[in-house]
Amino acid sequence: MSGASVPEKVVIIGSGPAGWTAAIYAARANLHPLVFEGAISADSEMIPGGQLMFTTEVENYPGFPEGIGGLEMMKAFRDQAQRFGVRIKSANVEKVDLSKRPFAVTDSEGETIQSHAVIIATGASANWLGLPSEEHFRKAGLGVTACATCDGAFPRFRDAPVAVIGGGDSAMEEALYMTKFSDPVYVVHRRDELRASKIMQERVLKHEKIKVLWNSVPEEVLGNNTNGVTAMRLKNVSTGETSEVEIRGFFLAIGHTPNTRFLGGQLDLDEKGYIKLKDPYRSTTNVEGVFAAGDVVDSVYRQAITAAGMGCKAAIDAERWLAEQGIE
Ligand code: NAP
Repeated sequence: MSGASVPEKVVIIGSGPAGWTAAIYAARANLHPLVFEGAISADSEMIPGGQLMFTTEVENYPGFPEGIGGLEMMKAFRDQAQRFGVRIKSANVEKVDLSKRPFAVTDSEGETIQSHAVIIATGASANWLGLPSEEHFRKAGLGVTACATCDGAFPRFRDAPVAVIGGGDSAMEEALYMTKFSDPVYVVHRRDELRASKIMQERVLKHEKIKVLWNSVPEEVLGNNTNGVTAMRLKNVSTGETSEVEIRGFFLAIGHTPNTRFLGGQLDLDEKGYIKLKDPYRSTTNVEGVFAAGDVVDSVYRQAITAAGMGCKAAIDAERWLAEQGIE
């Protein structure tokens, strides 16, 4: 780490596919990037490695014909970055000062680092209901997940009943996706009207394998450590009645929260809180020298491969911008 008097060329905040890809490209461009990978702490917005750390198996990232574990994949990304000399700090970034250059980045250990360019790749965090049983089965990889595209094809969900929680487009998409494997697919929604677009609603409502459980909220995920999730207890919010429904999978689709709190309002965000890019084909933000990539700018695709692509763009944009400033 450089002293306060020698600013970094580029600091990368975040260690998911976008952050590591940006780091690999920046390192190979001789920018000697420093990555803040985050630290595991109870009050942390994000975790080192990002959302893939919760994904048991990644089967849709090209180049891995047999699939690869989420953890293993992020370790490979990290190892590849280290191979090119990327420096890594296992701390969270608590605040940034983007009002003047070089920018200042202050971490959870109280250290402030100056940098000419900053790449923000802090991702988004899936929202959870907050039930202890939900957390237990999620952490154990036993049937609770917030990504059907990542985990839906596992044998435990084949020809078995599963539930998707939520009434937005993501829930519709996840439910439709799960009909490839599971039967029935319950959509559990807390109101009597879906939030999703009309076209997605129609597809769901007319699908023979999908059954919407209206006015319902999960109270508990039931199961055991041998069989994983076996059922859920639902409360009907209009009648107050509770019921148990047999399921093998419990899929959350109740929205994501982009990890932008540490920015303290210094970058333009869209109405959902995602960083707004100045040019949608680039990675530039409204602050010159600050670039953004991955799920922190993307509420639509949210895939490892799209995040990695954006990380690559951010590193190239940063490299070109630094060259224009005479910093090479
Ligand atoms: P969303 O539109 O915010 O929907 C979240 C859903 O979760 C809502 O139905 C909400 O219920 C429910 N919910 C939130 N908190 C809950 C809680 N604590 N307990 C139970 N239910 C809860 O999020 P999204 O579906 O992820 O979509 C995000 C954005 O991406 C949207 O703009 C969406 O259109 C877009 N998107 C588009 C596509 C597509 O076009 N194919 C696919 C995915 C996402 P309420 O309705 O009662 O608030």
